[in-house]
Amino acid sequence: MEQTFIMIKPDGVQRGLVGEIIGRFEKKGFTLKGLKLITVDRAFAERHYSDLSAKPFFNGLVEYIISGPVVAMVWEGKNVVTTGRKIIGATNPADSAPGTIRGDYAIDIGRNVIHGSDAVESARKEIALWFPEGIAEWRSSLHSWIYE
Ligand code: UDP
Ligand code: MG
Repeated sequence: MEQTFIMIKPDGVQRGLVGEIIGRFEKKGFTLKGLKLITVDRAFAERHYSDLSAKPFFNGLVEYIISGPVVAMVWEGKNVVTTGRKIIGATNPADSAPGTIRGDYAIDIGRNVIHGSDAVESARKEIALWFPEGIAEWRSSLHSWIYE
């Protein structure tokens, strides 16, 4: 089954949005496979965002991500990468549809509350980076109520 890496950024944690965000993924029917509150250092944040190292906003982005604890998660389910991105909404909250997490809870692009992997391959890399200890092995007893 497909997995994605979802991270509630420091602003989302500080603003008390953790429960709300987890609830949206849970209620959709996705399965929580990994979860931790963690403050990462600069080198780690730079590694997570290494694809963006040439961008003008890179330093500010790294400062933002290391500014407080984040909630790192692995969610599992059919098409969870693409659907997770839809639940999150467009990168710039000015363009995120109402009903999405960024559309409902964010205003500025540099304080957009949440990260989600953009492809199955980047999800695999991000899960390996953030959860080197591995993730939980379990199957929800709701499975047959969610999948036909
Ligand atoms: N970002 C920013 N300014 C920009 C573009 C991106 O501060 O002009 C930040 C923003 O927090 C975004 C993150 O960099 O979520 C990663 O950018 P990406 O293009 O990967 O967007 P995402 O995949 O998070 O939607
Ligand atoms: Mg991205």
